[in-house]
Amino acid sequence: MRSSRLFLPTLKENPSEAQIVSHRLMLRAGMVRQHAAGIYNWLPLGTMVLNNIARIVREEQNAAGAQEIIMPTIQSGDLWKESGRYDDYGPEMLRIKDRHERDMLYGPTHEEVVTDIFRNNIKSYRDLPKNLYQIHWKFRDEVRPRFGVMRGREFLMKDAYSFDIDYARSKHAYNQMFVAYLRTFARMGLKAIPMKADSGPIGGDLSHEFIVLADTGESAVFCHKALLEKPAPDNVIYDADLQHIIDDWTSYYAATDEKHDPAVGEKLGADLVSARGIEVGHIFHFGKKYSDPMKASVVGPDGNQVPVMMGSYGIGVSRLVGAIIEASHDENGIIWPDSVAPFKVGIINLKPGDAGCDTACNDLYAKLQKAKIDVLYDDRDERPGVKFADMDLIGIPSQIVIGPKGVAKGVVEFKRRTGGAKEELALDAALNRVLA
Ligand code: ATP
Ligand code: MG
Repeated sequence: MRSSRLFLPTLKENPSEAQIVSHRLMLRAGMVRQHAAGIYNWLPLGTMVLNNIARIVREEQNAAGAQEIIMPTIQSGDLWKESGRYDDYGPEMLRIKDRHERDMLYGPTHEEVVTDIFRNNIKSYRDLPKNLYQIHWKFRDEVRPRFGVMRGREFLMKDAYSFDIDYARSKHAYNQMFVAYLRTFARMGLKAIPMKADSGPIGGDLSHEFIVLADTGESAVFCHKALLEKPAPDNVIYDADLQHIIDDWTSYYAATDEKHDPAVGEKLGADLVSARGIEVGHIFHFGKKYSDPMKASVVGPDGNQVPVMMGSYGIGVSRLVGAIIEASHDENGIIWPDSVAPFKVGIINLKPGDAGCDTACNDLYAKLQKAKIDVLYDDRDERPGVKFADMDLIGIPSQIVIGPKGVAKGVVEFKRRTGGAKEELALDAALNRVLA
């Protein structure tokens, strides 16, 4: 993409409505614009990052055996009356009447809908296990939407739902998601700490939140420092090893401030990390909470009907965009990890109109495009300072600067956004660096 064509309304000044750094930078980098309280337009740069995050989530869900579906955003209230949640859910649910005065709602979550899909289509234990997920928009009429996309009213979530014949197998499905989550967040350059959680309004008895550490996090967290140092588990895990991995990860102390026990903190001494965190994922096992009232049962091995055991597994896909920025930025702007960057490489032409610079830039741009590398070529007729500032603001991980002096010597400047180190390289060497 050429900067001269890209819809990228960057801002020089800090917008006054933004209280935290990710919100400020998302507005300044032209990623989002607010439409109404807690409801955002995602502009091209924001959409690219959102899609990259969704792709990683999708790959790890698929690898863990979950299957993607798309459920409606607008749901029938009748299903929620069956589960008993229509009256319980409260004002966070946006209720709508259609032209026939039927109760509809904009889905804040999808347990009822997915349970309905299941009961209408799966009849035997032989068809289990199943795990269905979607990456879709939710609406929750939050009392205080704030911090940009971190606590929106409309937001993008990955929600998966597992169906199993008994507790042991349902726990196995839960464990698979647990590991998939560790891998997912690690691929985004994040340290996510699994923390035992209350299961909240959705109910259940086995539940973990995944918390990313960042100074501006909504909750205070305390944990053993080993949790920050452990690498995410490998992709290929044999079933026998899975429980060991979970036991290991959950053996370390981790708590939010309400549950933090100062005595434990004292005992851990220097091993205790106290920090702030952002919840980016939440997994629950809730057994028969929906399958019982909604009669989602299968024929078991003995010929009797058994309600299925279920779990649900959420990831805040749009919240992650903000969380990654909170965890990775400096005074000049965003520092995207390569895996989610909107463009992996930026080319800065210091002197558009200069034949040598134009040729070198066009040539490099064509080669990168041919190699299917997402590249942003700043071909605008702007001062170099403006171009440097924009490239850093929008966080492009590798930057190649091409100017007349370098072209005369056959070299370009190669810069990594992280650390900011600059190197002079021959054009081909810079290309190879990026390709590697
Ligand atoms: P919170 O305590 O932050 O309100 P929750 O417990 O209501 O979260 P879940 O129902 O478990 O959240 O939803 C799964 C994930 O969706 C959360 O872990 C979070 O990352 C994300 N999420 C929840 N509410 C919002 C929101 N209002 N805006 C953006 N993301 C959200
Ligand atoms: Mg909530």
